[in-house]
Amino acid sequence: MTRIDQEIRGHPAAAGSAEALAEQVAALNARFKHHSATSVMEGALRDAGDIALVSSFGAESVVLLHMAAVIDPSVPVLFVDTELLFTETLVYQQEVSERLGLRNVHVIKADDIAEKDPYGAMRFSDTDACCTLRKTIPLQKALSGYDGWITGRKRFQSGTRAALDFFEVEDGTGRMKINPLAHWAPEDVRAYMDENRLPRHPLVAKGYPSIGCEPCTSPVAEGEDPRAGRWRNQNKEECGIHVVDGKFVRTGA
Ligand code: SF4
Repeated sequence: MTRIDQEIRGHPAAAGSAEALAEQVAALNARFKHHSATSVMEGALRDAGDIALVSSFGAESVVLLHMAAVIDPSVPVLFVDTELLFTETLVYQQEVSERLGLRNVHVIKADDIAEKDPYGAMRFSDTDACCTLRKTIPLQKALSGYDGWITGRKRFQSGTRAALDFFEVEDGTGRMKINPLAHWAPEDVRAYMDENRLPRHPLVAKGYPSIGCEPCTSPVAEGEDPRAGRWRNQNKEECGIHVVDGKFVRTGA
């Protein structure tokens, strides 16, 4: 078991009944099988306990944020500030939160960055450790009071997400994860933004279809995979805030 696994498996939610949670998730998936993303989010907020929406305020984040704001503007929104984000993302986070009327946005930061990575050099030697320090641990700590969280993951994004359900059990934490956009295609995302006249992240127009920390994100050329600019030329595709097969692996924000 890794250090991050150990830190997170101590979560009180993990002490709950895994079987009961699995049954609840199966029932929710059956119930919402043919429902819309909005309906899934409504159902989760109504029936799945204390739920937070986790958002990077990145290229497509405004879709889920808008849905949440329409359903309940007091939904807790957790935003992880790694202290290495683009200034544009920090400004966008504030502008979008205000415009959508989101009343419960929490900016999450690791409390030991100054001690463990005072010069921001960890990313040069170990990007996984850097993501763990700056993203995974602070996010999982912030989620410790919740029964589950809403993500923006979609089936089209990668092979590990090809069979993504609306509701799933997060291995290792005993929490539920809700993926209202699981079945959406890129054109659905664009159409939703257009129809609701939602503000785009300013870096999208500058060639950044996927946006993470500034040092680890580069523009993408036409025809490249949208995530090609994340950790370019490194053997890393994702940041590790999600769990696959029981491990906090690189499965993306
Ligand atoms: Fe560090 Fe890069 Fe991960 Fe950001 S994306 S936490 S800078 S390794």
